[in-house]
Amino acid sequence: MIGLPFGGEPGASECSRAGCRVDAAWRIEWRNPKIHDESRRKVWVACDEHVGYLREFLAARDFPLEVLPLSAPPSTAALPATAASPAAVDPTASSPTTSSPTEAAS
Ligand SMILES: [Zn+2]
Repeated sequence: MIGLPFGGEPGASECSRAGCRVDAAWRIEWRNPKIHDESRRKVWVACDEHVGYLREFLAARDFPLEVLPLSAPPSTAALPATAASPAAVDPTASSPTTSSPTEAAS
């Protein structure tokens, strides 16, 4: 390692994908249920290009995971028991359409 002017930066935001040096935009929090208890979270960070790759990598192993924007505050909730939430952050997913039934009063 070459001495960098800012060593030991706490929020290192370089993509966790091997060989990628791009600034990360996403944070993937995950755990391995076989070795981590439910309160434990490992954190990877990923650039736009690799967030899907890393998420699939973990989901394929049935690891519970959550994908958050890098700037989001740290989550304190325990991860769910299964990796059944592949799209924790999907801008197209939530469009609450509250339809109120129209009642025809006589
Ligand atoms: Zn990357």
